[in-house]
Amino acid sequence: MSIDSVYHRVLSPHLRDWVRTDAQFSTPVGLLACQRDPLLRQLDALVVSSVVSSPPPLAKGKATKKAVIAPTIAPDAICLEVCLNDTVIFPEGGGQPSDTGIIRTADGTVWSVLQAKRHGGQAVHYVHVHDGNVENALLVLSPGAEVKVELDQAGFERRYDHMSLHTSQHLLSALLETRIQLPTLSWSLTSYPAPCYVEIPRGMTIEEISMIQAEANRLVFENRQVHVEVEELDPKSIKPVEKLQSGRAVGRGLPEDYTGGVNRVVVIDGVDRNPCCGTHLPSLSNLQLFILPHTDALSRSSTTMARLYFLTGPRLIVHTTSTHNYLTSTATLLSCGTPQVPERVGQVIDDRKSATRRIEDVELELAKYIATDLIRAIQDSDSVYKKHVHRTDDSATALNFLTAISFAFSETVSKSGIEVPYVLVLTSSPSAQMTTNTNVVFVVGSEDKRVKEVGDALKTKLGVKGGGKGLKWSGKFVGVWKNGKEDAMVEEILGNVL
Ligand SMILES: [Zn+2]
Repeated sequence: MSIDSVYHRVLSPHLRDWVRTDAQFSTPVGLLACQRDPLLRQLDALVVSSVVSSPPPLAKGKATKKAVIAPTIAPDAICLEVCLNDTVIFPEGGGQPSDTGIIRTADGTVWSVLQAKRHGGQAVHYVHVHDGNVENALLVLSPGAEVKVELDQAGFERRYDHMSLHTSQHLLSALLETRIQLPTLSWSLTSYPAPCYVEIPRGMTIEEISMIQAEANRLVFENRQVHVEVEELDPKSIKPVEKLQSGRAVGRGLPEDYTGGVNRVVVIDGVDRNPCCGTHLPSLSNLQLFILPHTDALSRSSTTMARLYFLTGPRLIVHTTSTHNYLTSTATLLSCGTPQVPERVGQVIDDRKSATRRIEDVELELAKYIATDLIRAIQDSDSVYKKHVHRTDDSATALNFLTAISFAFSETVSKSGIEVPYVLVLTSSPSAQMTTNTNVVFVVGSEDKRVKEVGDALKTKLGVKGGGKGLKWSGKFVGVWKNGKEDAMVEEILGNVL
């Protein structure tokens, strides 16, 4: 394949010698076939070196950069680190994750390339030794071996998605910078198919967002061309990364460990010139940049900033399709048209709130009746009144109801001047008999001592987790609450109270 093209413009002539056609050296990252022609899917290549990779590479970078997807390699996977003279598999860089692909060897074997990484200035393929036969793998992939390196269908779809989003990010960042003077602090190519985002120093108004989106899509409609210019990297020309007043870096500079020696600039015709090693689509056609019409405010220790989410290309279609499906299935559930969904959901929430309020009111009323029943029994009691009441209740707030009963009970007792000492255990279980059930327990009494005694016994004898203070104790019991077992144990505990 040619080294010079309308897309790939070589400004330093001797860089042409750096693209290797022999097995002596690898073409440096910056001049790889995938960077010279981002739509190329297959290449005849030669193995330059291969060694056993052990242990597999760990993801570099800070935990906060997790959003960038890197294909993972299982810890027990045996891999070779293979360098080729040239490749169509892009190693990660410029915020763009590694490609995945395949290598075909002369013996007919198809080897999976699980990821590619840049070591210094060299692209390293992590080739999975699927049968564990390392000796054979080293033999078949020995230096000088002729192979075909390919983006298979899945690998190409993955790359096309990355290219669409990466080129869109350049377009978006350039417009933010030139139209409303907002620098891009960083960007994230999130896992498919989530929206990607750029981080900017402040939130944007809806008007700004729609203006930027309209401007971007005007340039897409004009089918602006994209090309790459490469020249030899002059170490003296490397500028330090700009910083905001807050100290936050604006974008990222050339990686310190890059030793490829190529200065690569990605140009969107009349819009942007940006040093970048990523793979970029040759034109803006079919990009259709879509910006999610809001920003998420982010507060971090030293600086406040916002995220602006965007979608484009195939990922935009997937996102729009799934969003539409969510909307139509919600509309079906609500028996309304899609435009009515927000209003209907609002109604459902309001109905739900008033239903909850009504349940609370009715529970309070019912609690008084249950308490009144208990009061009748306490009046007949001549010693300590001890009682266990078990209820079945599927409410998530069953404990609230038990609390309401205990409150109504103690209030009525004190109002009516009854002086019989008492200790009451209220329990509540969900209707389904499941081992994961959470059953709630509430103890109330006329003296601290008895409440504590019952609470302690529930902990030790029944394994209830809980605690209390003064005249109240509450806890939870996980498991199936059985009549003959847990109920019987509560009765026994109460029986021991003097
Ligand atoms: Zn870039």
